[in-house]
Amino acid sequence: MKDFEGRCLCGGLRFSITPPTLFFAHCHCNYCREAHGAAFVSWVGAAAERFRYLPGSREPRWYQSSVQSRRGFCDSCGTTLFFASALCQGEMHVTRTSIRGPIDREPQCHVFYDQHAAWIKIGDELPRFTGDEPSLAKFKAVRAVTNAGIMGDGSKS
Ligand SMILES: [Zn+2]
Ligand SMILES: [Zn+2]
Repeated sequence: MKDFEGRCLCGGLRFSITPPTLFFAHCHCNYCREAHGAAFVSWVGAAAERFRYLPGSREPRWYQSSVQSRRGFCDSCGTTLFFASALCQGEMHVTRTSIRGPIDREPQCHVFYDQHAAWIKIGDELPRFTGDEPSLAKFKAVRAVTNAGIMGDGSKS
C-alpha cells in the first residue's frame, strides 16, 4: 500500500503516513470535542517515524492542551489535524478526515464514550470504551494546563 497523504482545509499543511497505521478510533473526550468544535474526533495513530510533512508544507502551530499533550493546527485556515503527547511518545495522531482516500483500516472503536455529547446518536456496532478501559489508563493521568473549564481527569487530553 502506498503512503497516505493528508492536508488541512487550505492545503498549506500537507503530510504523509507510510502504512501500517497503529489504530483508527473515534474519540469523544471533552478535549477533542472542544478543540475541534465537533461531536467527536476520528483519529488515526501513526508511528512518528512513519509520519512526515510533505515538501513545501507549512509547519503546524501547536496548542498545549494539557501538561502532557499538544494539538497541532494550520495557522492559515485553522484546521485541527494533529495530537501528540508524552503519554504516547513516538506516535503522531492525525484526523482521519484530513487524509484523502482510503487507509489500511476501518474504525475500530469509540473511546471516552462516557464523555460523549448527549445530543449525538451513534448507530454503529463498534465497541464503546469509557475512560475506565485498561488500554486508556495512561491517558487518565492527564492534567489540565489551566482551569479553563476543561476536565483534567479521565480525558485523552
Ligand atoms: Zn490550512
Ligand atoms: Zn479525545
